[in-house]
Amino acid sequence: MTNTKYIFVIGGVMSSVGKGVASASIGKILQARGYEATIMKIDPYINVDAGTMNPTEHGEVFVTEDGDETDQDIGNYERFIEKNILSTNYMTTGRVYREVIQRERNLEYDGKCVEVVPHIPMEVIDRIKTAGKKTKSDIVIIEIGGTIGEYQNVLFLEAGRMLKLKYPQDVLFVLVSYLPIPAMVGEMKTKPTQHAVRTLNSAGLQPDFIICRSERAIDKKRREKLAVFCGINPKSAISCPDVDSVYEVPLMFKKEKLDEQILDKFDLKARKTDLKKWKNLVQKSKRLKKKIRIAVVGKYFGTGDFTLSDSYISVIEAVKHASWQQGLQPEMEWVDSEDYEKDPKRVKELGQYDGVIVPGGFGTRGIEGIIKAIKYVRENNIPYLGLCYGMQLATIEFARSVAKIKNATSTELDPNAQNQVIHIMPDQEKKLLKQDYGGTMRLGAWPCKLRRGTHAQKAYGKSEISERHRHRYEFNNAYRSRLEKAGLKIAGTSPDNHIVEIIELEDHPFFIGVQFHPEFKSRPLDPHPLYLAFVKACMKKK
Ligand code: GLN
Repeated sequence: MTNTKYIFVIGGVMSSVGKGVASASIGKILQARGYEATIMKIDPYINVDAGTMNPTEHGEVFVTEDGDETDQDIGNYERFIEKNILSTNYMTTGRVYREVIQRERNLEYDGKCVEVVPHIPMEVIDRIKTAGKKTKSDIVIIEIGGTIGEYQNVLFLEAGRMLKLKYPQDVLFVLVSYLPIPAMVGEMKTKPTQHAVRTLNSAGLQPDFIICRSERAIDKKRREKLAVFCGINPKSAISCPDVDSVYEVPLMFKKEKLDEQILDKFDLKARKTDLKKWKNLVQKSKRLKKKIRIAVVGKYFGTGDFTLSDSYISVIEAVKHASWQQGLQPEMEWVDSEDYEKDPKRVKELGQYDGVIVPGGFGTRGIEGIIKAIKYVRENNIPYLGLCYGMQLATIEFARSVAKIKNATSTELDPNAQNQVIHIMPDQEKKLLKQDYGGTMRLGAWPCKLRRGTHAQKAYGKSEISERHRHRYEFNNAYRSRLEKAGLKIAGTSPDNHIVEIIELEDHPFFIGVQFHPEFKSRPLDPHPLYLAFVKACMKKK
């Protein structure tokens, strides 16, 4: 193999047109050609990680195996290239500056003046190279967050420029742009993209490819226009119209021969493609007619102008993966738990769903409404999957209603309450007292042993698992025997039996709560066993 190759993916015109999926899809088509590809995300925020960003603004916090709190795009990468992505593949402005400042304090720059340029881009390049080496990749794809023309990502573009200068044959730039079709003109406009390319040019960069995101496919005329005005080959304007499923995008790129063109520019051989299973799944998913309806009950819904699909993307995708495997088309509906606080009778509406999920969350808002919902599904045999907070709240509900532990609650909800059946983890308490909040939760993959014969153990089909976590509170063992006596099954614990990781009910069609986030490990062709078991239970109910 020759030098490692680098592909920078940059957004133009506007955000939210699918840079993450484009980057993931480029990785997929190159991987399908037999090359080892990895994908990195650069988040231009000052935040050191995504853990301290507001999920209603920034979207889901995706947790890696090694416990990094990253951008949701890392989840896309994992789902597309079907590989775990580690912390080395994620950086923020905060992380880069912190490192450079620390090095300066350690006198690692030999007493030189440490400057924004070149030292910040040099640190960025270092990180890109390290990620390539660590993953033993032939090709490293680097998605730069934000849009061209913003002040925030300039230093990352500069890193790309410096890398290209050093290795002209080994670096490519992809612009993911948006081509509007204004209703009053009715035709696709290339001008905003032309401007985006000019801006890119002024940063010293020339795109090799332009991914043309639009409502429709681009035609010959516009392809040629882009070629002339943006200085690219007409076939390097990659048509990328809206599609139903993001998993179609790699197939679209292949049709446009993006893989061949990239390999050609890198002077790499175009080996035979292997995308058959992927293609079959995409086709199957489009054909499926039989529906299941799942309600997601939570509190983050309906706040301002953020999209739900961003805050819960891994849960949504995990439901799709499992449903498709079972030949089902899932329909997910978002239920605001505060509605049940205002009008408790409304909780009955949950009866019309085939299953209910309570996803992860934090804080006190809407919680009593969620607990009402859990009581209803528990008493009415509706399949229930509780994720992290969803497990803790199911424990609280059971403690109150079945074990008759008066006012049972969690420290998070009422730190002075008498019966905290969910309480703060001892090491977490110390961190909170020191206001040491960032990146300090119980994070990443932890082993869990399953109790034989439980629903959870049967779903997994094994007795040792490893799942990804992100929490500060846990099941309070002081109440363990009391809850068990009342009928709550502890189906999984940490190997030392100390931390309760899974609870379930024996005589319920499906009632499982997990202290972890199984959705982070679900892949389109390899659905997560718990989601699969849940979907099967939903189908049965239907
Ligand atoms: N707020 C809960 C905790 O910190 C649950 C976290 C979650 O759902 N990810 O333990």
